[in-house]
Amino acid sequence: MKVYIDGKFQSKEKAKISVFDHGLLYGDGVFEGIRIYNGRIFKLDEHIDRLCESAVTISLNIGISRSKLVQATIKTARVNNIKNGYIRLVVTRGIGTLGLNPYLCRNPQIIIIADKIKLYEPELYLKGLRIITSATRRNHNEAVSPRVKSLNYLNNILAKIEAINAGCKEALMLNNEGCVAEASGDNIFIVKNKTLYTPGKNMSILEGITRGEIIGLARKKGLEVIETALTRHDLYNADECFLTGTAAEVIPVIEIDRRKIARGIPGRITKSLMKAFREVTQNEGTEIK
Ligand code: PMP
Repeated sequence: MKVYIDGKFQSKEKAKISVFDHGLLYGDGVFEGIRIYNGRIFKLDEHIDRLCESAVTISLNIGISRSKLVQATIKTARVNNIKNGYIRLVVTRGIGTLGLNPYLCRNPQIIIIADKIKLYEPELYLKGLRIITSATRRNHNEAVSPRVKSLNYLNNILAKIEAINAGCKEALMLNNEGCVAEASGDNIFIVKNKTLYTPGKNMSILEGITRGEIIGLARKKGLEVIETALTRHDLYNADECFLTGTAAEVIPVIEIDRRKIARGIPGRITKSLMKAFREVTQNEGTEIK
């Protein structure tokens, strides 16, 4: 495996960053997780856009142009010969002092890893997930914006720990007002009376790229999609529920906090969106060549 670090490719063993990097010392940096399907990078532009927006908000100058970043990402997939897999693109603040001051970090570090991907077991897509509500809330809108995909994922990690401790794979996170935000690494949708509902972009969510695609696909099918505040009551009483994310794609949720969602089986609209999304992933993307 060849890892891109700061303009060069290093073997996996030699791909190292400094212990003085503020990405490590403070979680000061941003990242993206991107899929490769059939030798094409899926939604590359959208991921690069989100990374750049995250960087602007944390006042991080990525240091290379957007097109160079795109080219470096494609090249990393190519040199590793990954036809189906996952790209982790990370930009850290770079080496600094032991103090917080980011202005003393002169060179941001760009790290790109292309690897195979570990997915949920296929059975879970057929049967659906059971999830719980985590006691850990999503970032407050007035702290680091939840729309920033930052290197500090501790709230989400605590939520994941709660899920695993409860025998589940995922946890639902609420926002500071107690409304539904998203899962620890995925967005959430419900279906009620053939209409889709999902928390809006200012409800403390990361605006998922899969979420955006699903909203588009649902509308193409003639379904109404409403971005709005949702409570757990809405979720418990939904007809269907599913999660979306780059790694998980679209996965049904059949139980939340021990309440079965409708009959406790993946719903019809969920299944049709899973199929439509799979088709898009197989037919779109930036050629690695
Ligand atoms: N929310 C969070 C907190 C995430 O980490 C992710 C995964 N990046 C998502 C939602 C889903 O976003 P996407 O569809 O862009 O992967």
